[in-house]
Amino acid sequence: MYAGCVLASSDGKAIDGILTERDFVRLAIEAVDLESVTVAEVMTTTVVSLRLMEFTDIFVAKNIFHQCKIRHIPVLNDDGTLAGVVTNSSLQHALNQDHFLKLRVVSEVMTADVVTVCDSAKVDECAMKMIERRISCIVVTRASECDAGSLVPIGILTERDVLQLKNLQVDFCSTCVEQVMSTPLTFLQPHESLAHAQELMNKLRVHRLVVINSQGFLAGIVTSTSLSRAVDPQHIYSIMEILQAKLERLSIAHYKLLEKNRFNLEVALSKGEFSMVYQPIIHLASGLTYSVEALMRWTSPIHGSVDPDQFIPFAEGNGFIVELGYWGLEHACQDFNLAAPEETPTSLSINVSGVQLKEAHFVRNILEILDRTGFDPSLLQLEFTESTFIDKELSINEIIAELRSHGVKIAIDDFGTGFSSFSYLQHFSFDVLKLDRSLISGLSSSPRAQVVVETMQELARRLEFEIVAEGVETAHEMNILRAIGCHGAQGYFFSEPLEVSHLALA
Ligand code: C2E
Ligand code: CA
Ligand code: CA
Repeated sequence: MYAGCVLASSDGKAIDGILTERDFVRLAIEAVDLESVTVAEVMTTTVVSLRLMEFTDIFVAKNIFHQCKIRHIPVLNDDGTLAGVVTNSSLQHALNQDHFLKLRVVSEVMTADVVTVCDSAKVDECAMKMIERRISCIVVTRASECDAGSLVPIGILTERDVLQLKNLQVDFCSTCVEQVMSTPLTFLQPHESLAHAQELMNKLRVHRLVVINSQGFLAGIVTSTSLSRAVDPQHIYSIMEILQAKLERLSIAHYKLLEKNRFNLEVALSKGEFSMVYQPIIHLASGLTYSVEALMRWTSPIHGSVDPDQFIPFAEGNGFIVELGYWGLEHACQDFNLAAPEETPTSLSINVSGVQLKEAHFVRNILEILDRTGFDPSLLQLEFTESTFIDKELSINEIIAELRSHGVKIAIDDFGTGFSSFSYLQHFSFDVLKLDRSLISGLSSSPRAQVVVETMQELARRLEFEIVAEGVETAHEMNILRAIGCHGAQGYFFSEPLEVSHLALA
């Protein structure tokens, strides 16, 4: 068994001390004869531990790891007896970090200040460095032949390797690191995602990976500890919020469906029961309509007018949203060709569900519709909700890049309802950020909402995207938004969604 630490207890109940891998490395290079010393003589007696009742959530443990730079925390029962040990890996396991790691890249968490030795260094020199610098590995490098000053990584030596060598009674003073280091190295590049780093660590069963730049020179290392640091509690809570909201929406929809039997959307579409309405989006500085958002409507002879918040989740659930979505786009493009004068082009924004993006030929099909209807791709904007950006199965960046290469614009919809994280703002390219009504309706009463909107506006200016405020219902809200410098706005204050014949696009 290879445990990362040993706990000492004289009465089998209370913990007296702890011995970790790091302590064993220290003993190994001090050439302490392990046969003749007792645990009590060498253990660390100031053990950082947690009471079970203090262990309210995993972040308590995560923060202690971080602050005390330790890797094991015994958790105690009320009476001081041991309940268990939290380790870095158990924490990672519990967090199931995939979603979060996908959004972050290696360069954000890697340690660039790597302790290195050349291949002729002796093992005792390496072990000494590990203890002095409180690090768990050393990278073995050789100088680059073509670029003086750059190092080429060739192997790695970890604390655990040192201990294994000690057990094999290898002489540290006469053994070169080259003979015992782990090779070949598996490398990562700074721009790769942390999810990939974690995948590699799991596959290779290692806790450290070496990062190289595009020329193959040493750039840093990533450890499993740095991966767990990349998980920001705020992200987790906001993702939970999204899922919670989604669940509520689905269960409301589900409940209503039970009441009304099952919707037959296929039949409804074939009978022409769907239509599109358009809500103007106003340029706040000039007061002119520069874009409209297309919204779907369903008037059923059986159920009456059905709310999109009911039939859209239903269509997403059974996959019919794919067909319905294409229908909506084609219909909107045709409507628009008739309504919008050529001399003052207005752009068309349309909602796209994450389910649609999963369809294999999504981009190709969108382009085909534009082609068929003769609609200018640079006047089309697709709105994706935030949850689309955290969907693990989607290679959203590729889809976005392809659409943008054809001139189609991308908007992030409903910003502020859940996973309002700045991290994806830097990882995804988009043109417009739509602030959810919940933020806008808070503007009049909550200084916090105003600060959020101001911050987003400042970010928009620097990262060169536009902000559109949704659900503007009062002149007061509009004035605040205008003063902040927000680009566009839509809402009942300006206009409800209108049938195409009522749209005044001039
Ligand atoms: P959304 O994309 O956030 O659309 C804005 C919603 O806010 C619309 O509701 C609109 O009618 C409503 N709204 C606009 N101004 C105001 C205002 O000042 N105050 C308030 N309280 N509400 C305002 P709608 O049309 O019921 O659509 C609801 C949601 O259904 C949309 O939210 C969108 O997520 C989805 N949806 C609608 N049409 C489509 C579609 O064609 N495809 C897809 N995938 N989703 C759609
Ligand atoms: Ca929308
Ligand atoms: Ca929205």
